Amino acid sequence: MAGDAEGYVYSRYGNPTNQMLADRLSLLEGAETCRVTASGMAAIAATMIAPCKAGDRVVAASALFGSCRHICGQILPRYGVETEFVDGGDLDAWARALSKPTRLVLVESPSNPLLRAVDIAAVAELAHKAGALLVVDNVFATPVYQKPFELGADIVVYSATKHMDGQGRVLLGAILGPSEFIEDHIDPWLRHTGPAASPFNAWIVLKGLETLELRVNQACASAARLADTLASHRNVARLHYPTRTDHPDYAVHARQMNAGSTLIAFSVKGARAEAFRVLNALRLIDISNNLGDTKSLACHPASTTHRALNEAERAEMGLDESWLRLSVGLEDVTDLEADLIAALDRL
Ligand SMILES: *Cc1c(COP(=O)(O)O)cnc(C)c1O
Repeated sequence: MAGDAEGYVYSRYGNPTNQMLADRLSLLEGAETCRVTASGMAAIAATMIAPCKAGDRVVAASALFGSCRHICGQILPRYGVETEFVDGGDLDAWARALSKPTRLVLVESPSNPLLRAVDIAAVAELAHKAGALLVVDNVFATPVYQKPFELGADIVVYSATKHMDGQGRVLLGAILGPSEFIEDHIDPWLRHTGPAASPFNAWIVLKGLETLELRVNQACASAARLADTLASHRNVARLHYPTRTDHPDYAVHARQMNAGSTLIAFSVKGARAEAFRVLNALRLIDISNNLGDTKSLACHPASTTHRALNEAERAEMGLDESWLRLSVGLEDVTDLEADLIAALDRL
């Protein structure tokens, strides 16, 4: 129990299957150390809460996954940690927010659900000047398409529930970073608060990793084609896809990612009612808030993944009721295309 002998004493502290997954994720990401957790949110909560104490300051991009936003905006301030949100694409805003000493910076790039970019290298430099560690939630990019450590990130977090399992079977999360940070801050938190990953789930994700690159490349190729199809449909108002030159953050994505995405964000002409009509008219594509799956899944972020945010917070990240998020899976792309066109045609 003192930790001075090799081996495993209790699965809340460590487990050989979980360690095998952590070792492979470290190699895949180019990290010194990795810990796996029960879910992506367990990983992000540990990373954001464990190193902070009352009086510390956290700066985060305003375009964040709903629960990440809740941790920064609702939970941390209750314990005396000041949080500031900035427009992730505005480097002057980052410079202003990081002109004061800061403990942690959290960004998602591409962001959920609108696939907005944060210039990871530029924010890393500003974060380091403020004495902060830069945490990157790399779920949307996957380790196949973006390497945050090479851009200056200090810690990378994943929901392995998404592309790594990628088959809708288990929840799992991962924290990757320097050994010192993990041992000083993450290990005591994980040991004593208990968000331990199930070793069975870790085994599932180990199997998922064997086909990660194949699945992500196939889904991404389909998504690129579907993005073009959707963008030219008369009932689509706006569309964000990283490798399309009409994406507002095209240049930043092109610099730091080596491909597009398995995800597409698009808005329909209209508002909530029209967005729901399109979702309900889909026959092959399921409605679900999961993503990075072998099955194509669509959702209405304002009423699901981002419903915990109030209207002003959603407006701040540019998310109105007309947006849909599509996670492209491995079905035949011509079938997916037909399903989307038929649903949009009915509007
Ligand atoms: C899904 C998701 C999470 C949370 O992961 P869970 O495994 O569902 O807890 C965090 N960040 C992003 C960007 C996500 O898409």
